[in-house]
Amino acid sequence: MAIKFCSIASGSDGNCIFVSSGSTKILIDSGLSGITIQKSLLGIGVEPSEIDAIFITHEHKDHIHGAGILSRRFSIPIYACEQTWFNMNTFIGPISEKNKHYIYRQESCFINDMKIVPFEIPHDAISPVGYTIFTEGCKISVATDIGHITDTIKQNISDSDILLIESNHDLDMLKNGPYPYVLKKRIMGGFGHLSNDACGHLLVDIMSEKLKYIFLGHLSRENNNPSLAYKTVSSILTENNIDIGGNLQLSVANRGIVSLPVVI
Ligand SMILES: [Zn+2]
Ligand SMILES: [Zn+2]
Repeated sequence: MAIKFCSIASGSDGNCIFVSSGSTKILIDSGLSGITIQKSLLGIGVEPSEIDAIFITHEHKDHIHGAGILSRRFSIPIYACEQTWFNMNTFIGPISEKNKHYIYRQESCFINDMKIVPFEIPHDAISPVGYTIFTEGCKISVATDIGHITDTIKQNISDSDILLIESNHDLDMLKNGPYPYVLKKRIMGGFGHLSNDACGHLLVDIMSEKLKYIFLGHLSRENNNPSLAYKTVSSILTENNIDIGGNLQLSVANRGIVSLPVVI
């Protein structure tokens, strides 16, 4: 059966990633309004009621906005760390007990033919995670909101077939941009977000023959743009003798635009 991967949206306005094994369909985060996610799913030929589970990375609004609405409307189970549940409870509203599930870092969780492994990421949330999904012989990884690169991240995302990785900001744009000093410091800090440069070097470190699709995600509106993120990361890859366009596709998961689904 074919695997389908689609970034419904990626960025500080909202994050939602769709992954399907054919028989199992999940969302990583639901950070747009319920109705926007519903419409976007229908746009890629998926009935919202077909979603088997929503996995939450952390409690920031751009990752949980529509989770409660979707869960109540379509009886979709939500999976999140215990502390994340505690912090997002009030915001997402009441969730029925049968749809409330707990995950633990580095502990596999199974949804039919999918094995999902949450892993720790450094970010200023209570218990933030990235996810790796194993299904149909493929490995898919999603890691955004990364303050700095850790061995845990590298170990978990290496040997992926499809990888969505944060490429949040251009360091010069951030430094010279309009954000107040405190916010700049937060974003650049060890628990903020990953720069285009750092993303490029991370990709060089974890590059493997297996990696076929890279999506650059969670781009900042003020401190980045899709062509700059692409240019910075692709230059770093090229400088390190990594060819793009043949077996390896590099693209940007845009803010507020559903990306072209990848099917493998
Ligand atoms: Zn975020
Ligand atoms: Zn965040």
